[in-house]
Amino acid sequence: MTDHFAVVGAGQMGNGIAHVCATSGFAVTLIDVSAEALAKGRATIEKNLERQVKKGALEPAARNAALARITTSTALDAVAGATVVVEAATERRELKFQIFRELDRLADAGAILATNTSSISITEIGAVTKRPTQVIGMHFMNPVPVMALVEVIRGLATSDEVNARTVDLCKALGKTAVEANDFPGFIANRILMPMINEACYAVMEGVGTPEAVDQVMKLGMNHPMGPLTLADFIGLDTCVAILEVLQDGLGDPKYRPCPLLKKYVAAGWTGRKSGRGFYTYPAS
Ligand code: NAD
Repeated sequence: MTDHFAVVGAGQMGNGIAHVCATSGFAVTLIDVSAEALAKGRATIEKNLERQVKKGALEPAARNAALARITTSTALDAVAGATVVVEAATERRELKFQIFRELDRLADAGAILATNTSSISITEIGAVTKRPTQVIGMHFMNPVPVMALVEVIRGLATSDEVNARTVDLCKALGKTAVEANDFPGFIANRILMPMINEACYAVMEGVGTPEAVDQVMKLGMNHPMGPLTLADFIGLDTCVAILEVLQDGLGDPKYRPCPLLKKYVAAGWTGRKSGRGFYTYPAS
């Protein structure tokens, strides 16, 4: 039986995951509470597929077939029939718990319940369901159609079978799975977020401008993108949320989110998605 995906949350990650599922030949149901987010998500997928066609990376017929595999819904009960659910809603613990309680009620009995969370405990998310053996972390990177990595995180109760199936699914999506254990931030954000946070402190303390900080890391450390450009790309609200999970979960004040980062988020400057963060972005 071929897999059918449901993706919950049509934001920058959710629409990217749906895009990759569809171009890999899987039917995918994209779900969001906001009809506006769904419309925007679908438009982004169309735009990104078009870009692949223009680059010669995708045949027009394959683009049309991919688009035909995507359906959208504002109701979570549209997960029925899916063999794999990937949750990619906003990074808030209580929200994820609430969604997984609902998924437990609505998803097919054998379905894998994956979360794209950047930092929240897979074990805790699994524990709000009656099927923690089927709950796993499937942490895609941004932008999903471009980035090769998926961090696969097993919770304490995740079964070997679900872990193995998830690694195989990553391969079927053209991605490379790297397995991690369930600790706050897993591998990727345990290392990335302290660097981004330190870059924010450097700006706040006047050590350098955002441009200078980014240039130093690009030209001096050979990073393809400076940490503040990357923070804007990830979303400054998501960065704060991840740092709070690290601070809370590891109990070390070194993870406290930089006040400047929190101030930007309070102002609605959440980065590229809002048009302004450390840099400004023209509406696309
Ligand atoms: P986003 O703000 O772009 O999108 C979140 C979407 O979730 C919004 O469209 C919102 O309407 C929707 N949503 C909120 N509540 C919902 C609900 N109850 N049911 C369905 N949809 C709901 O955020 P994002 O950057 O796409 O992040 C989504 C997840 O992916 C987060 O857990 C984040 O930590 C993780 N993640 C983000 C990145 C990144 O670079 N941004 C990378 C890897 C993982």
